[in-house]
Amino acid sequence: MILDIRRIFSAYDGPVGREFEADFSQEDFPGYRVPDKVLVSVTAVLEGGLVMLTLRETPCVEAECARCLDTLRQTFPIERTYDIRKGDWEEEEAELPFSPEGRLDVEELAREEILLEVPSVLLCSEDCLGLCPVCGQKRPCGCAPREAETDPRLSVLKQLLSD
Ligand SMILES: [Zn+2]
Ligand SMILES: [Zn+2]
Repeated sequence: MILDIRRIFSAYDGPVGREFEADFSQEDFPGYRVPDKVLVSVTAVLEGGLVMLTLRETPCVEAECARCLDTLRQTFPIERTYDIRKGDWEEEEAELPFSPEGRLDVEELAREEILLEVPSVLLCSEDCLGLCPVCGQKRPCGCAPREAETDPRLSVLKQLLSD
């Protein structure tokens, strides 16, 4: 979706609002996927000589838990506001994905925000115990606690230390 920002500066007649579905299922994100279409909404208001652009989206991310490798799905509500000055699109290193004519690629902006907001390491839950080194199943798995944890020499050492 392309939003003509230059036109908002030159012919403003009230807030501009757009909503569209973005398809990022073929995009290469680090450590996760965005398989479902994402509803992206964008509003632009001209105020005090600046265009205030607000972008909202709630991508549903699919990934493998970094500890137990289970597939997980998590949503990330994203809301970002940008102040755009007239002529920002002519900057050599424009912060936003503009064409030289002042047209903003909102879908590309939505993709960049997902990259910024979603961590590349995700867990199925904060207290995921990961995989058991003995049986390879997700813990708790019923295996006895690891040897090191019950090593009698260690408990003697602990006693000495606490004395
Ligand atoms: Zn996990
Ligand atoms: Zn086990």
